[in-house]
Amino acid sequence: MSNLRVRFAPSPTGYLHIGGARTALFNYLLARKEQGTFILRVEDTDVARSTQESVDAILQAMEWLGLSYDEGPIYQSDRFDLYREKVQQLLDNGKAYRCYCTQEELEARREQALAAGRKPKYDGTCRHRQDQPVDQPFVVRFSSPIGGDTTFIDRIKGPITFANEELDDVIIQRTDGTPTYNFVVVVDDATMNVNLVIRGDDHVNNTPRQIVMYQALGYPVPEFAHVPMILGADKTRLSKRHGATSVMAYRDMGYLPEAMVNYLVRLGWSCGDEEIFSLPELVEKFSLESVGRSAGVFNPDKLLWLNAHYIKTSDPQRLAVLLDRHLKDEGIDPNGGPDLVAVIKTLQERARTLIEMAQGARFYFAPEVVVDADAREKFLTPDKKPVLEAVIAALDSLSETTEVTVNAAFNRVMEQTGLKLGKVGPAVRVALTGSTSSPGIFEVISVLGASESCRRLQRAIDSL
Ligand code: GLU
Repeated sequence: MSNLRVRFAPSPTGYLHIGGARTALFNYLLARKEQGTFILRVEDTDVARSTQESVDAILQAMEWLGLSYDEGPIYQSDRFDLYREKVQQLLDNGKAYRCYCTQEELEARREQALAAGRKPKYDGTCRHRQDQPVDQPFVVRFSSPIGGDTTFIDRIKGPITFANEELDDVIIQRTDGTPTYNFVVVVDDATMNVNLVIRGDDHVNNTPRQIVMYQALGYPVPEFAHVPMILGADKTRLSKRHGATSVMAYRDMGYLPEAMVNYLVRLGWSCGDEEIFSLPELVEKFSLESVGRSAGVFNPDKLLWLNAHYIKTSDPQRLAVLLDRHLKDEGIDPNGGPDLVAVIKTLQERARTLIEMAQGARFYFAPEVVVDADAREKFLTPDKKPVLEAVIAALDSLSETTEVTVNAAFNRVMEQTGLKLGKVGPAVRVALTGSTSSPGIFEVISVLGASESCRRLQRAIDSL
């Protein structure tokens, strides 16, 4: 065990986004690599926007991706007493103050500042106020240091400096008494002994605000690593316009979790020209030093390519389990049909998603094959009757139906009839599967079995 302690801290205000999942993955990988501790913290202080549904969705997505955590989920909503105590500590030490300025007053001053060409920030009216108005709502503001700089060395971006003047006296407790993000994140990371914060770089501007709070509360400051954003192909921030952004939407679209993990990690991290990484390999190879400084561009084609790779190379028994939901979605009932694992083996080579695989499996389980009209017209013509009958006879005589015996049976038919396989194959394919694109006919026949294959061929002949 090392003493590395990292955390993933999602706000449960929606599903787990691609970007959030990548942040979670980077934290997970580093914790596993260094045998540190990975904490899951649910940042649900914004009671109005947080929902149980989102919490469940996030936990489900973490599980789907295989990102196990060592501590948590810890809910901020269970920790309000601690936050209140810490607000009080800052008030007592003169490092925070009550602010009674009203929305209207703040708005008016903001406009004045803008009109005068100054950057709007809290002007400090209540900072030195001696009186304590009773029965008047207030927020608590942090007394930011005046003058000087705050610097940190980002593990990805290098040294970053902000002038303290930029920091503003941020609100740490709202009028309703609830604490705000920048404050609770400090209290939590400090009390959970987090020593490296890996998060999206949309938080870079928050970091100096948080650092001065660590200092005011007497906590050691952790290290920070801000991961660059993910962009769409048009180089704007990844959003729904670019396609699905929820991790679980990809499960529903027939992606394997290992393809998703492999794709996510490559969005910002690289290891030579390697593209394919299993989770254990990633644990071994991942490092923050190889995370790039520029934004990753989401490329759905590459994700699809990786998914096809993982479908091709996955254990068909496992695919059978994962395929189940997609068969249901397609209204396909595999019970009573050919062996599902055998079916899957014939589809792994071509299916790029589990949805494609389910659709490709339809003909195997259909009580009656639905023949595509064009395919029928082109290939299932009356002149094919004798050869289809010869195929039936050859298959009927087989004691065992394997690709090898089926291949031999076809060779005999070719010899008898003097036809080429190119003439016969398409008709057989259309009769068995209903379409012109399917796994190879020897494979299909060996999976369907001789008697079901003959039944389908006979039915095709009867329809001629
Ligand atoms: N809850 C914050 C978010 O979802 C994360 C903050 C952090 O990682 O410090 O953006």
